Amino acid sequence: MIPKPLDLVVDMYGCPNRCLHCWIGHMPNRRMRDGDDRFIVDFFRPYFDRIAFYSWLREPDYCDDYRERWEKDLRLSVSEVPKRFELASFWRIVRDPSYVPFLREVGVRRVQLTFFGLEALTDKYVGRKGAFRELLQATELLLAHRIAPRWQAFINEENKDELAELLRLSETLQLRERCEAFGEEFRFFVHEGSCDGENRKLYGIRIRKGNVPAELKPYYLDLDRLASEREWVERLRDDSSHVTFRNADRIVLQISNRFDVYFNFSEMSDRWKIGNLKTDAPDELVRRVAEEDVPALCVARNRTVGELAARYGDPHSERLFSRGDYEEYLLNLCLYDKSIPV
Ligand code: SF4
Repeated sequence: MIPKPLDLVVDMYGCPNRCLHCWIGHMPNRRMRDGDDRFIVDFFRPYFDRIAFYSWLREPDYCDDYRERWEKDLRLSVSEVPKRFELASFWRIVRDPSYVPFLREVGVRRVQLTFFGLEALTDKYVGRKGAFRELLQATELLLAHRIAPRWQAFINEENKDELAELLRLSETLQLRERCEAFGEEFRFFVHEGSCDGENRKLYGIRIRKGNVPAELKPYYLDLDRLASEREWVERLRDDSSHVTFRNADRIVLQISNRFDVYFNFSEMSDRWKIGNLKTDAPDELVRRVAEEDVPALCVARNRTVGELAARYGDPHSERLFSRGDYEEYLLNLCLYDKSIPV
């Protein structure tokens, strides 16, 4: 038995959006079959005595029978209760009048909604016309049921000025005051996001140090811990440590609708793949889980951060990164470098 609880996070239904920043990566929607959930739990059951099962990896409650689905997730879990987090489907909020009452019933009191600017930019980045209006409508529906919306915004060079307008819109709508009226806090926060999955394609327009609008700075997450790529290259060039990803007190496995298994480290691409539940033997796949044995982590163990920074870093770039996101970005560049054997 592996003495840690296991979270199985399965893409059973897909996602209505195709966000340009999606770190998970875009995958075709494909509804998994009844019984696939039980097969997945049974695969791991001999090795773990605590399992939380989530039938969604991308969009929560995307299936029409979301209430039965939630109850089934509870039943499939073993000595664990899956969490709701501060997540919900804004796609469903605006289409299904029973949904927000359901969220309240299962204990959701805050829901995060993601913006990329005003209407045109948010629609473009979510990948769906109408997304911005749906987010505003979802905000109102949540408030009507005493659930606090949390507006998160991903910033880049293209949308930075519009995000200041988005902040003003939240003030015009008096979201802070309206949440306080029922004892909850409204939050507006901005960040640049990681640079993996689809978001790596936005590297060219990644926000530059010095270009964050002044009015957004109080709302920017951990701004004082960020530095420009140029600064990171300078600081890390001689660093002899290695990029590390570790399972902490729980093991979280993300499972695609083709039964491919990944940790929740970085993106769901080939070199991060642990194995496949249909083609790999359970003992071997669980060994890889326990020993964190995937190609990406082997590369990380064999190359220092200093080597990665010297080889892949741009010493002239003012793009903003946290240290963790920058190391992960460098490692992924190395993984995509065809001249590097894995
Ligand atoms: S970021 Fe989330 S909502 Fe957007 S495409 Fe990816 S999984 Fe779907």
